[in-house]
Amino acid sequence: YAKSLGRNQAQTFHVDLADRFRSRFQMENDLRRALQNHELVMHYQPIILAETQQVVTLEALVRWQHPTRGLLSPLEFLPLAQDMGLMKTLGKRVLELVCRDIQRSAITLPKISINLASEQISDATLPDQVHALLAQYNIPASALAFEVIEEQLQDDTNKLVLTLRRLAAAGIELYVDDFGTGYSSLARLKNMPFSRLKMDRSMVAGLPDDFDDCAIALSILGLAKGLGMSVVAEGIEDIAQAEWLCHQGCGYLQGYHYSHPMPLDQLTL
Ligand code: C2E
Ligand code: MG
Ligand code: MG
Ligand code: MG
Repeated sequence: YAKSLGRNQAQTFHVDLADRFRSRFQMENDLRRALQNHELVMHYQPIILAETQQVVTLEALVRWQHPTRGLLSPLEFLPLAQDMGLMKTLGKRVLELVCRDIQRSAITLPKISINLASEQISDATLPDQVHALLAQYNIPASALAFEVIEEQLQDDTNKLVLTLRRLAAAGIELYVDDFGTGYSSLARLKNMPFSRLKMDRSMVAGLPDDFDDCAIALSILGLAKGLGMSVVAEGIEDIAQAEWLCHQGCGYLQGYHYSHPMPLDQLTL
């Protein structure tokens, strides 16, 4: 039947649209199911102390083990989860998975840093939820850190600052993620309880040859020093980047050069 219509542009367009609609609908259903059926899995990427080259932190990064599409990266499903209003549920699931991994581990793990969505940090009940989970899994607050994207700090409500302060007061370290990509005011940063800046990998990519990237990286290192914070450079893919950053006093390093994110039991710690 389709053949008899010939190559009708409009027809093709409608079919495409219907296909895309169906697959989006399918993905939405799949994601709802995934959140219940243990299809979300955590991978972990080491953060290295530059001075000793030891793994001092692991960043938890969520993946979706989809039954037919394989292992999906967060960039492929977080936007959908966000559209569907599922970020709080997903964030809670991630917290549970990480706590479970810590509890089950035969060795004492390094601190694990977890990425928080803006839906989570704007939720005033977050500190209580975290407290309850830590108690349930019998884990000290010092086992966790949270990463908050710089951009999420823009709506500087007192409520947000209070939530962050409560988390920090409980003993959870807070890191600013993707630093250098947002427009957070430095004065504001000063009043927030962050202990570490994660220099975005878009700056690290050009090191050590790109003059502008070097200038930005140096200013971030200087700023952090002034504010008493440490710096992690993310996205290090080669030794030249690492050496330049070490030489400039960057304390912590992360990237494919050291390790890709992997399931916990595949990491050598
Ligand atoms: P992010 O927090 O900035 O994480 C770093 C991303 O860079 C990760 O991508 C990591 O795999 C990748 N990466 C690490 N080293 C290198 C490198 O040397 N080169 C390059 N090109 N990339 C590198 P991933 O795992 O795809 O995560 C993407 C983003 O998704 C994360 O960016 C984070 O914002 C978000 N995300 C991941 N897991 C979670 C989660 O559990 N909850 C929330 N809310 N967001 C998450
Ligand atoms: Mg992160
Ligand atoms: Mg980052
Ligand atoms: Mg990022």
